[in-house]
Amino acid sequence: MSAPRLEIDLGQLHHNATSLVSRLARRGIAITAVGKAVLGLPEIVATWLAAGVGSIGDARLDTIESLVSGGVKAPMLLVRTPMLSQVERVVAGVSVSCNSEAVVLEALAAAAERQGRRHGVLLMVELGDLREGILPQDLAGIAALTLGLPWLRLVGIGANLGCQHGVAADATNMAELSALAEALEARFHIHLELISGGNSANLAWLAGGGDPGRINHLRLGEALLLGREPLGRRPICGLHTDAFRLVGELIEVKTKPSRAWGRRGLTSFSPEGCAQPAPLPPDRGPQQRALVALGHQDADPAGLEPPAGMAILGASSDHLVLEADRPLSVGEEIGFRPSYSALLRAMTSPFVARQCRGLSAGPATPASWETARRQ
Ligand SMILES: *Cc1c(COP(=O)(O)O)cnc(C)c1O
Repeated sequence: MSAPRLEIDLGQLHHNATSLVSRLARRGIAITAVGKAVLGLPEIVATWLAAGVGSIGDARLDTIESLVSGGVKAPMLLVRTPMLSQVERVVAGVSVSCNSEAVVLEALAAAAERQGRRHGVLLMVELGDLREGILPQDLAGIAALTLGLPWLRLVGIGANLGCQHGVAADATNMAELSALAEALEARFHIHLELISGGNSANLAWLAGGGDPGRINHLRLGEALLLGREPLGRRPICGLHTDAFRLVGELIEVKTKPSRAWGRRGLTSFSPEGCAQPAPLPPDRGPQQRALVALGHQDADPAGLEPPAGMAILGASSDHLVLEADRPLSVGEEIGFRPSYSALLRAMTSPFVARQCRGLSAGPATPASWETARRQ
């Protein structure tokens, strides 16, 4: 079997999805499954839909377009606010997009009119993490603009926390989102369909008994894929945390001195701006060192967890240096548990094969937003 390869357990992913869908449904919350870390892998998307997820989200238009052309009928949410240069494709390919810029909304409306296809808009609000979002005091103005553009439909409002500064969802910012939704509804005499509270980083707040208020939607990636919440990297009770395994093959195993020798400078992967070589580890005498044919070009080595009894000593473009408390041999395969960043990079690398096992997902019957794609 080819290495490196990412082994994907669809049965575990199915379990994670059914579990989160039903637990959140009890709190009145629907989910959009965000597949950007797995590049919208069709087998995973089909697994999610079979597990009862109603809609699929991604940050990349290319991924959404290929899912749609591959026959996925579920409503699609573009979770990264659109590029001005891509509005035609956004309207053609996506039911609803997240938005924060007036100029983009106007361009989306013009594209929607040209195509004779209404486009749904979720307005993103800045609640403190300082990535995308309209400042709360500017929300009513942008909502008014959206409502005044006949080819746009204001589907709701949303927020994103946790991704830039690790700001957590809490009673204060989530209540603020609910209050903003109610203020818009009262002011413009409308009903907002989706109040999208955030991503996997919101689950800890909900699990701690947080009151969803008006929040009825989350956009989840990491929790579905890795079974954990991102802010504390804690496993979510009842979910599988090892649906993914990155497997690499050993290409050299030798006993070598544990200290490098010779005059030293930086390496290609020394952090930019660092002037000195990294300090050498203590001399432990001769040690077994194994090379895995796996490096930065295949995954983020800092995000790979080796099996018990093994440690990663270093990594470069194409090699991981590994030590182990047992004898290893050339040709042996080693499986690592990838973090979110390692998973994302492994999925993006053309050198990493993928092998799905477990459940093969059946056809999906999507629940629909009003704006689900017209065929
Ligand atoms: C990536 C992303 C998500 C999903 O985040 P997870 O932490 O993987 O759950 C949700 N919303 C937006 C806007 C995103 O960019």
